[in-house]
Amino acid sequence: MALAMNNTPEFPVLIDKKKIDAAVRRLAAEISRDYRDKNPVLLGVLKGSFIFMADLVRQLDFPLEIEFIRLFSYGGGTHSSGSVKMARGVPLKLKGRHVLVVEDIIDTGFTLAHLLHYLKEKEPASVKLCAFTDKPSRRVAVLNVDYVGFTVPDKFVVGYGLDYAEKYRNLPEVSYLED
Ligand code: 5GP
Ligand code: MG
Repeated sequence: MALAMNNTPEFPVLIDKKKIDAAVRRLAAEISRDYRDKNPVLLGVLKGSFIFMADLVRQLDFPLEIEFIRLFSYGGGTHSSGSVKMARGVPLKLKGRHVLVVEDIIDTGFTLAHLLHYLKEKEPASVKLCAFTDKPSRRVAVLNVDYVGFTVPDKFVVGYGLDYAEKYRNLPEVSYLED
């Protein structure tokens, strides 16, 4: 890790800051091309997407709105429970809007499958998915991910918003836990 933090174990780095910045710029260019005239709603899934969302939207120079939704799919561990809970609905009318879901990581896909089902009932004009990282080796739900920052191996990753039991979201790079 680039930043030594007191009481933070040294995890091996998977994606360094330079690579993150380049990926965010690439995704922003793709999203700009597709959404420039659509006044989209960027819907971040909390908590994991907060840093990615903050970096991404600062690279977008056209009208858009930002919303967040809170979903829970994990207990305190590293394995998906398969059951997804939503803390509150989206406090914004989505009917007729172009919605871009912004996620930290897609693993089994259960979380997004659940969210997509919920969103479709709001009759948006379109729904697309943007994931900072994608772990396709563990996918169960069938999903089309429109914008992907990084495809990651079957490891539990932390940092850049991603947690392990609520810790390590603040690490500036993406690291992985060794098993
Ligand atoms: P899924 O429902 O696709 O299995 O899981 C999605 C959610 O599980 C993600 O939004 C994230 O919160 C959590 N998750 C899945 N894999 C990882 C991982 O490698 N690291 C972390 N920190 N969270 C993960
Ligand atoms: Mg998440």
